[in-house]
Amino acid sequence: MTMDHLVIGGGLGGLTAGALLAEAGDSVRVLEAHDKPGGCATTFQRFDAEIEVSLHEMDGLDEDDLKTPVFEHLGVFENVDFEQIDQFYRYVDPTRGTDITVPHGPEAAIDAYAAAFPEENAGIRKFINVILTTRREVADWPFFEEPSSSTTHLHRFGNEPWGDTGRRLSGSYSTT
Ligand SMILES: Cc1cc2nc3c(=O)[nH]c(=O)nc-3n(C[C@H](O)[C@H](O)[C@H](O)COP(=O)(O)OP(=O)(O)OC[C@H]3O[C@@H](n4cnc5c(N)ncnc54)[C@H](O)[C@@H]3O)c2cc1C
Repeated sequence: MTMDHLVIGGGLGGLTAGALLAEAGDSVRVLEAHDKPGGCATTFQRFDAEIEVSLHEMDGLDEDDLKTPVFEHLGVFENVDFEQIDQFYRYVDPTRGTDITVPHGPEAAIDAYAAAFPEENAGIRKFINVILTTRREVADWPFFEEPSSSTTHLHRFGNEPWGDTGRRLSGSYSTT
């Protein structure tokens, strides 16, 4: 049997790629080495307990988040009820006396980190802005409408080491 696409690995990445290609009308086969799909996002059973391999919550799902159009495209919102939790996470390190509760949203998160590490205020802001800028630029790539145009966008970064890309991104916005 011939296939348009062969996806190696049925984790979230492979399953999402496979679903998008199939939804676009192409024939696709996903090959998974494990006896169940999901990769890091699976669970396993020990006695009566069902244990998450890794993924336990997800951030974003706002307008700048690439997951949002992907989930809309694949009908995930119609089939899964998402639940907003009180805080993003809490980090406790008794050896350093660190106890940070990170709230939702970038600005609130920056404030929480900056309150815990005031001397790192500028660096924290810059680091989170790098993440936000990268996220926004990725969300702007026309993955669905023009795949060839997406490739052109990626070629901008194709021939340079990631460090150079990161430096260019981090220099492209204000850190104040
Ligand atoms: C401890 C931990 C906690 C995490 N917590 C969160 C969280 O709370 N929120 C969040 O958003 N993210 C979290 N993540 C990250 C998230 O789980 C992963 O980014 C995501 O699941 C990775 O998906 P993936 O498809 O890229 O890779 P994987 O899940 O690794 O999938 C790769 C798949 O490919 C298969 N495979 C590999 N080689 C072959 C081969 N040669 N042939 C066939 N199949 C093959 C593997 O069996 C696997 O199923 C966490 C990760 C870890 C490790």
